[in-house]
Amino acid sequence: MEIRRFFADPNDISSDEVILSGDEFSHMTRVLRYKEGYKAVILASDGKERHCTVQKIEKDRALLHIDSIIQVDKKNASITLFAGDLKNNKLDFVIQKAVELGIDRVVPFVSDNCAEKKFSKDRGERIALEAAKQCGAVYLSEVEDIISFDEVIKRIPNFDQALFAYEFERKYPISKAAKGKNIAIIVGPEGGFSKDEARRAAEAGAKTVTLGRRILRAETASIVAAALVLNSLGELDYE
Ligand code: SAH
Repeated sequence: MEIRRFFADPNDISSDEVILSGDEFSHMTRVLRYKEGYKAVILASDGKERHCTVQKIEKDRALLHIDSIIQVDKKNASITLFAGDLKNNKLDFVIQKAVELGIDRVVPFVSDNCAEKKFSKDRGERIALEAAKQCGAVYLSEVEDIISFDEVIKRIPNFDQALFAYEFERKYPISKAAKGKNIAIIVGPEGGFSKDEARRAAEAGAKTVTLGRRILRAETASIVAAALVLNSLGELDYE
């Protein structure tokens, strides 16, 4: 039997026991039809895999015994992807791929040239959870609610470095620019950034970077930027 992975609330984990409730409990018992005695890997976004055995299934929670703990991964950097909102739910794809690659947080935003202004955080979180489980991640990426471009500008100083992907930049390739432990990547919507937005980002301290000579679709740009930054920080290497 395949041993499945579940994310638990860190507050529900003690030294030898895990309580699984909520959506992950439903997934375990209703969708996957887990029974007492089954094995599971429990994750809690702390780099550890807890190998467990289900001891008791109650009405709305399962109790699991922790058999062993393996430290799988240590994070050296935290990367936030700010992505302009996209039409036809194309941010779903961006979230899924960003999580697979190892981006820690995705923050959608509305800027001048956005054709779409709505975003469902719940749906985004569900996609992130599924992607994290499917790709064997030990950290659960966060998905935030949609914010304004003004808010993106305000948050730039919180990062060691903010990389602003701009198709008119010729000089700085993103892969050479990434430095620090807490990094932001900012990618525009289908309509791109206005000149004024690019100027404001630079004034707030962002570094304007290129993803190469070709103009990529917004969703491609997000994924390429994420992969290049993770790679240049060594986050795709085996330790
Ligand atoms: N200005 C164009 C293209 C927008 S591409 C238009 O109006 O249609 C969407 C986003 O992807 C851009 O805002 C930018 O953040 C990113 N992007 C695409 N190609 C890029 C490149 N070669 N270098 C840097 N960023 C790029």
